[in-house]
Amino acid sequence: MNTSALARQLKVTTNELLEKLPELGFDIGAKAIKVNDHLVPKIIDAWKKAERKKAFKESQASITEVRAKDKVTVAEQKEITIGDTIVVKDMAEVMKIPVARLMGELMKNGVMVSLNEKVDFDTATIIAEDLGFKVIKSKQAEEEETSNKEKLTQLLSTRQSSDIKAPVVVVMGHVDHGKTKLLDAIRSTDVVASEAGGITQHIGAYQVVAHDRAITFLDTPGHEAFKAMRSRGGQVADIAILVVAADDGLQPQTLESIAVIQKENLPFIIAINKIDKPGADIDRLKQQLVELNLTPEDWGGKVICQPISALKKEGISELLDLILLVADMENFKADISGPAVGTIIESHLDPGEGPVATVLVQAGTLNIGDMIVVGQVPGKIKMLKNWKGQNQTAVGPATPVKILGLRQLPQIGEILEVIVDKKTYNNKIKNIDNNFRPAGINNSQNNNKTEEGEEGATNLRLIIKSDVLGSAEAVEESLKKISVTGAKIQVVKKGLGLINEADVLNAAAQQALLIGFHIKENKNIVSLAQEKGVTVLYFDIIYKLLEDIEKRLITIKAKKTVHKIIGKMQVLAIFKSQKNSMIVGGKIVEGMIIKKCGVKVLKNGEMEAVGKITELQSGKQAANEVVAGNEAGIEYQGDPIIAVGDTLEFFEESYE
Ligand code: GDP
Repeated sequence: MNTSALARQLKVTTNELLEKLPELGFDIGAKAIKVNDHLVPKIIDAWKKAERKKAFKESQASITEVRAKDKVTVAEQKEITIGDTIVVKDMAEVMKIPVARLMGELMKNGVMVSLNEKVDFDTATIIAEDLGFKVIKSKQAEEEETSNKEKLTQLLSTRQSSDIKAPVVVVMGHVDHGKTKLLDAIRSTDVVASEAGGITQHIGAYQVVAHDRAITFLDTPGHEAFKAMRSRGGQVADIAILVVAADDGLQPQTLESIAVIQKENLPFIIAINKIDKPGADIDRLKQQLVELNLTPEDWGGKVICQPISALKKEGISELLDLILLVADMENFKADISGPAVGTIIESHLDPGEGPVATVLVQAGTLNIGDMIVVGQVPGKIKMLKNWKGQNQTAVGPATPVKILGLRQLPQIGEILEVIVDKKTYNNKIKNIDNNFRPAGINNSQNNNKTEEGEEGATNLRLIIKSDVLGSAEAVEESLKKISVTGAKIQVVKKGLGLINEADVLNAAAQQALLIGFHIKENKNIVSLAQEKGVTVLYFDIIYKLLEDIEKRLITIKAKKTVHKIIGKMQVLAIFKSQKNSMIVGGKIVEGMIIKKCGVKVLKNGEMEAVGKITELQSGKQAANEVVAGNEAGIEYQGDPIIAVGDTLEFFEESYE
């Protein structure tokens, strides 16, 4: 082929082409007239790549410009500031919408509230964002996130980042634009994983290999991705993929994502998704991008766009190539040697394994046996597992790994540090604030009370989910009033919204009862709850809840205490039956009854209820004890289920 023809094809002059070719590794001579045909496709490919690199550099520079202009766009979105909780009425006021409308929106999401009740930050954010608001966390709430970020920056600043690391990618965009589908499509490109028969584990991040190079994806689909981006993405991601559906164009969460990307100064690629759909209009979307001063590169701008169909898995390998290209440009590096520093990207309590967390190592190498501190939580690495479920002995930067060995559940976004020196580690443990409670078990934990409580008391552990924090608090207050000697209620967690899988797992791990108050039943967790042996109860009326819990306490106590049987009575007559008490008469057939002893109600030999004797009569006289062979009348407190013919077994109790 003639060099002039090739130059025309590449839209440059022949001189420009000849000048540039050596830079791209093709030395065909400064005055060459012809170029070998087999080199032509290679030259074209290298040329395009180089152009992209150049465009990318320029696009990153232009982001700063765009940010200034784009502030307008973001500012046009209405912003509201919310702390950890907000009263519904106040929320409507700051949003300048009628309270009834807000309550309607909350209701649609299964949150039943009155205007004076509080909703928490997460609930408020979901509702407000659905209504097109941008939610900002109040300063105090944000401080924690910022301090983690500062800590990380400080820890990483002392490290020599000289080793190439895999890029860490976060996927963002408007709801339903296909983030989850894209993450699934990318995950399934990893042929090696499927060939090896590895069972993919959802640990909050995964890695794929493209052109022999690893790419790490934060796997936080749906609305979560957005929140996650705020608390962890900004700390750990190197590149953002902004997914925009070609049939829907730019939407509020797309704009918000752009604002976050720019604030974090993240290199980004736009994945124009759903191009398979009949309504897909790539040009219209590009036009919208132009209006935001984010002109796509093929329209003469600098923003990298890749049309894809996550559904049909089209354009995925091109997208991976672009990620690698950006990684080459940015040259992401980390320090592989030395003790590990990382960020927690996921954590949960596993019934079998205890506290489990996923950490993304950001510097150094994390090894089995390492002593670590995550925020306030100490531990020693007992197990490292990658997203394919394979055991690892050591992992380096940009690798997500599931860890076991933490003493408590750490919070997402917290920094993991390896402590090399045993003395320092022991001091760290000593210095840990005695009052600290594990994350995930919020302040409602009643631990002081329980621990100071009666010796040998058995705890009934509860996790309460409710429509609003106010009602969970009311339930907790009322529960405090129930008193059953030898058994104690311990509210280990309170939360808002529907009971989800995490709640079930948490309840299984903590051996707690799950209570839903004023919330809709979630049918999706029924089989998991059965599998894990977790009891889930729903109530709408507080006294029914209290009654049920009291009964359970009594039964627990009955199971856990040692009962010395002192006598038996055959029930002959029922004189009175009330809600929680009965007056019955019968004949003592064995032993004796003493006033104020315990009683078990037996039907056909099976225990059906446990109660106590509050009054005892022999003939018409009050008595302190009545022995076998005599008849007696008793006032019984407990479930009013005694019937003629039942056997009552009297006992005195001591605790195990
Ligand atoms: P997310 O909320 O951004 O995570 O969106 P999802 O990944 O859950 O996708 C929302 C819906 O769009 C689902 O029904 C997907 O099957 C569908 N979807 C995602 N990607 C594509 C695509 O490329 N083409 C088509 N036709 N549908 C898609």
